[in-house]
Amino acid sequence: MNIYEAAIARFEHAASIISLPKDCRRILAEPENEIIVNFPVRLDSGSLKIFTGYRIQHNNILGPYKGGLRFHPAVNLDEVRALAAWMTFKTALVGLPFGGAKGGIALNPNDYSDLEIERIVRRFTHALGNNIGPEKDIPAPDVGTNSQTMDYIMDTYSNTSSPNSRHSVKGVVTGKSIECGGSKGRDAATGQGVLYSLRHWCGENDILLNSLSVGVQGLGNVGGHFARLAAEQGCKIIIVGDHQGVVKNPEGLDVPKLLTWVKNTGSVLGFSGGDALSAEDLFREPVDVFVPAALENQITIVRAKLMKCRVVIEAANGPTTIEAEKYLTGVGVEVVPDILANSGGVIVSYFEWLQNKSGQAWSSKEVELRLKDIIWEAHDRVTEQRRKLKCSFRDAAYAVALLRLKDVYDRRGIFP
Ligand code: NAD
Repeated sequence: MNIYEAAIARFEHAASIISLPKDCRRILAEPENEIIVNFPVRLDSGSLKIFTGYRIQHNNILGPYKGGLRFHPAVNLDEVRALAAWMTFKTALVGLPFGGAKGGIALNPNDYSDLEIERIVRRFTHALGNNIGPEKDIPAPDVGTNSQTMDYIMDTYSNTSSPNSRHSVKGVVTGKSIECGGSKGRDAATGQGVLYSLRHWCGENDILLNSLSVGVQGLGNVGGHFARLAAEQGCKIIIVGDHQGVVKNPEGLDVPKLLTWVKNTGSVLGFSGGDALSAEDLFREPVDVFVPAALENQITIVRAKLMKCRVVIEAANGPTTIEAEKYLTGVGVEVVPDILANSGGVIVSYFEWLQNKSGQAWSSKEVELRLKDIIWEAHDRVTEQRRKLKCSFRDAAYAVALLRLKDVYDRRGIFP
């Protein structure tokens, strides 16, 4: 099963549990728009390169399409389709007035200079044209992109808008730098939300957060902020892995030092504050909590059989294969699903969009409190569905999302 087939299989499974009507199922099983743009960029060497950019708009019944932009060599149409569908379910689950979308370009950002990246981003934005917009489709950072990418998109979109609307289109992207209209707390939001999910799980299971040992895969935006915040709350981060290495310290890694090392070298590889291990050791290490925060399909059935943990909190999108999840839940490991656990990013993106619309700037405290409220309310709704339907965590999360989408389709009907 490729990733998109797996995403649809999961959707279909949950849809049958709640007997989602056939028409609603047919609508949600396909993306609404698939935009593919090919555009030329002049490289520093003077040569010309053609890039292919994707933007998949899955559904917008609840509001403007919303979802990240990924720059990674493995980006492909089916991956972006799956990620776009997950955004529709995520925004519906946490009750935001957004639909779902995702985009990307198959490239390794490390292969290009900063100026080349700027030209790629600006030309991609220009090629997307009016397919994006603050009331149409709102990209955000994902793997390989960041606030600088979003600042370039906003600036390009603004400069190609009519002079009278240049300042009112800042909300075309979220995840901008604070200086360019971003929200306080957006950078850390996804990792912060993952920690709120873990705290909710602790509350439900009567476990103290500061008694937990944690393993993390991926120390980028999401994994890095999560590890830092979890360590500040007393969790022991004992093992961390990324695309180049794995490092372990049974006494707990010094996370701020490790993050500085990663910032300077690009990886955990070579960090002297722990022992270097192999990629598979990351999964073999007994921990209370395992947080995959890298890419999809990382927890395969083979790796799941190595794992000795109590809960997997899915910080990445789609990190656990269907087979692996079945195995883990069968042996009593809880899997807190991605559309719930990593929703902090899109929630604070919503806050940023609201602030851009109203010209306000919220404090960090306000952002944190509102984020916690939304995530915990979503957790409570999922728990209620779990009890009612006697199903898995993931199916219950999908049930909440799909019932909200169904309700809106029922009321709005099908145009014309
Ligand atoms: P990032 O580019 O900042 O970091 C990615 C991390 O994954 C890096 O540490 C990298 O070394 C690691 N990695 C890459 N390939 C790997 C491999 N084969 N094995 C092990 N590690 C590998 O990306 P990010 O923004 O932190 O996103 C991570 C995940 O979280 C993705 O699934 C993304 O879709 C999801 N997510 C991100 C956000 C957000 O706001 N950035 C929001 C929701 C979900």
